[in-house]
Amino acid sequence: MAAPYRSVLDQIRLAFPQPVSNRVHDSYFVHSIMRAIDAVDALKSERPILGERTPLDYETARRASIPDTGSSVEDVTADLVRYCEGLTLWGHPRTQQNVVAPATISSLIGVLLSSMYNPNLAWDEYSHRVALAEVEMVAMTARLIGYVPERASGVFTFGGTGTTFYGIKVGLEKALPGSMEEGIREDVVVFASDCSHYCRYNIAGWLGLGSKSLITIPTDLRNSMDMARLREHAVAAVKSGKKIAAFIATMGTTDAFGLDDLKAIVALRDELVITFDLPYSPHVHADAVIGWAWSVFNDYNFEDNPLGFRPKTIRALAGAGQQIRHLSLADSVGVDFHKPGFTPYISSLVLFKDGDDLTLLKRPQEQMPYLYQFGEHRPGMYTMETSRSGTGVLAALANMKLFGKEGLQVILGHIVEMAELLSENLQGHACTTVLNRENFGAVTLFRAYPSEIDTFQINEQEMKDPAYRESLLRHNDYNRTVYDYVHAEGMAGRGVVISITDCYRQTVYGEPVVALKSFILSPFVDEENVQMVVQKVLEAREMVSKG
Ligand SMILES: *Cc1c(COP(=O)(O)O)cnc(C)c1O
Repeated sequence: MAAPYRSVLDQIRLAFPQPVSNRVHDSYFVHSIMRAIDAVDALKSERPILGERTPLDYETARRASIPDTGSSVEDVTADLVRYCEGLTLWGHPRTQQNVVAPATISSLIGVLLSSMYNPNLAWDEYSHRVALAEVEMVAMTARLIGYVPERASGVFTFGGTGTTFYGIKVGLEKALPGSMEEGIREDVVVFASDCSHYCRYNIAGWLGLGSKSLITIPTDLRNSMDMARLREHAVAAVKSGKKIAAFIATMGTTDAFGLDDLKAIVALRDELVITFDLPYSPHVHADAVIGWAWSVFNDYNFEDNPLGFRPKTIRALAGAGQQIRHLSLADSVGVDFHKPGFTPYISSLVLFKDGDDLTLLKRPQEQMPYLYQFGEHRPGMYTMETSRSGTGVLAALANMKLFGKEGLQVILGHIVEMAELLSENLQGHACTTVLNRENFGAVTLFRAYPSEIDTFQINEQEMKDPAYRESLLRHNDYNRTVYDYVHAEGMAGRGVVISITDCYRQTVYGEPVVALKSFILSPFVDEENVQMVVQKVLEAREMVSKG
């Protein structure tokens, strides 16, 4: 008689895709996926979330334990679907919340295939043609941003944060050769703007530089690094004998789509090397995790405008292009496909202009005796990760093929067109004012004011004049109230869900400016959804004035 465990094993085997072709079982597999999709579909409505958003019971969650016996695939699916309740539908036309992208079917299939067959990008022995896909993606993206693909190299890594992490790590190895082995024994600094992503603190901390070695440079009203201040700080650092691990140029800030002057930063770096006869060239990393996508317009003919964007859109696209086309001047560039590349998380690529840069991080073979004995492609010898999933690579590759350059131009052009429309609509009302008017992306930051306020002047007054401190703070609260109403309406399916930022920038006198924020990243957003934002803000004002 078969051992008792055998019957359970038979059930368990059915729960795996079959290793040997079995069409009948394949249809069971596909059907199981379809049931999941169907069940989630039943949660969809006019509202931009799945099902209901109920309060989260962490108390009960903390008491969870593994069940004594298993369940069927069907029961587990039903269970999993429940965890999707309350999630935001990033692709919903009424979602304008943040830089989170809806994923295409092709990218999802890329994730599925990679998850099923589970390649490990550490080594081509374990990833074979998926390793090739990563090399193709590196070449494709390098070419897109203007690198020489034959010279460049890169790896997919753990998010946009990971891309900057690699950039600074390589810079550290250039500034302090051997620090990979010896550790950091000297003062090293990193420069970034006050609008750059907060992941810089984490990275500096985790790399052992200490977040205090970050030198944060103020930005101008275009959210672009103040070059005069950068120069002062960089010269002072070098004069005092400090090493520079990296200059971080943010090419598309998270809140406002501010763009640093990368060309000027590189020129400053070159000048420092000559003036101070530095024995190394301080690394310049471009955090373009959002901005990279705008490179699809590098060769767009704005005069002929074959895709027929409106003049305002053309102006915005060309405006961003003036900075983005210099991306290839950076020594390394971070790219998030899970932002304006429309893949699921995580799909992030760090590119190096000079492929040899990455080999600065190479570990000796003796440290990894059980891997990499042969083969020519072994990124695992220099990546921070050991196992690296292929999901991000196949998802990104899927979308590059699905869209082509033209498809990305169309999506970006459309969302910028929608953001421009919103901006125009907001500026058309006396009571609302757009804060990042000089930034040309898909994000609009704005404030609403009570009727008695002259919105032509208030921004500048509140931003610069300490006499307006109280006015600023009062209107911060005012905008929080407006947000609460707009948000509630959006979640109830009567409006659009936008978000709020607690500190769009600091005023000259050091107070945070609260702003309402619309980030359009869904290709489904259309004019009516943009007008709805304005309408809801006006409604909120009326509610407030009625008390
Ligand atoms: C989102 C973002 C990051 C962090 O990227 P993750 O993928 O979330 O790790 C870094 N820099 C900028 C400018 C970003 O917008």
